[in-house]
Amino acid sequence: MDYTNQIREIASKLFAEDKIDVFIGYRMTGFDENQVPALIRDPKEVSKLVFTDKSVFNLTNYLKQDHTRNKRIGLVVKGCDSRALNLLLTECQVKRENLHIVGIPCKGVVDENGNKMQNCIECIYPNPVVFDEMIDGTLTGLEEPPYQVNADIQNIAAMNLVERRAYFEEVFESCIRCNACRHSCPMCYCAKCCIDQETSTLYHGANTTSSAFHALMTWSLHLAGRCVDCRNCEKACPSHLPLHLLHKWNERVIYENFQEHLAGVHEGDRGAFYKYSMKDPDDFIM
Ligand code: SF4
Ligand code: SF4
Ligand code: SF4
Ligand code: SF4
Repeated sequence: MDYTNQIREIASKLFAEDKIDVFIGYRMTGFDENQVPALIRDPKEVSKLVFTDKSVFNLTNYLKQDHTRNKRIGLVVKGCDSRALNLLLTECQVKRENLHIVGIPCKGVVDENGNKMQNCIECIYPNPVVFDEMIDGTLTGLEEPPYQVNADIQNIAAMNLVERRAYFEEVFESCIRCNACRHSCPMCYCAKCCIDQETSTLYHGANTTSSAFHALMTWSLHLAGRCVDCRNCEKACPSHLPLHLLHKWNERVIYENFQEHLAGVHEGDRGAFYKYSMKDPDDFIM
């Protein structure tokens, strides 16, 4: 998967036609084979853009920043990124008319060791669900397999409540409460976050195992029905914690109890909790 030339051509054209102020894509780090997000403002710098299977980050996270808000943005999205964008649009965090969305029919990205990422192996929406133009001008229609629950989540589902809590406490014991996961998540954009150590009225600021665990649990519940499995949060975690276990567990619970809801797939779908009914089952709550 190498769309570098196509991305550069599209970005150049958008600048030449004065349709954008900023193009958000990927560039090489400059010191190894990995990539970082690139915010290109000068058309002369379009040649820095690349796109390969190392273009791992979800760029929609940059739409919530002050330096892109209210600008005309060109943006590259893979399938999972586009679901986050759909949610940001639905939750009125970005203006559709300010965006030019370049969609990638995504064949998967790789980790630092060159292995295909687990979310890509399990991906059910590799094709973008919202875009203005697709790479090569065509939607190649990659296969979209049915939703499946993997072995890790089946294992969690087999636990009772006490076992599940003990399991999650052990897995996330080394959380240092740095909040890198929250800052890296496109769906976490609150100006004042309830788990912020300095301002929280819910959790004390100390970095105890207990406060970190409860903050993480709260964070994951704020993403329940909104997580698109892009793994931006995991890539940012300095403790290399498997945050997807929390999110995929919540995703499975939401899918099975809220009319097979999956985040960001349909434009305007406001999410599982807007489908609340007094008849909803409640025996799944952690
Ligand atoms: S989860 Fe799907 S859309 Fe996202 S990077 Fe992996 S294969 Fe691409
Ligand atoms: S919680 Fe993590 S995987 Fe889910 S949308 Fe946010 S960054 Fe992506
Ligand atoms: S954790 Fe909750 S309150 Fe904090 S930014 Fe995310 S959604 Fe907002
Ligand atoms: S990034 Fe990792 S260590 Fe930091 S708060 Fe999130 S889970 Fe904890």
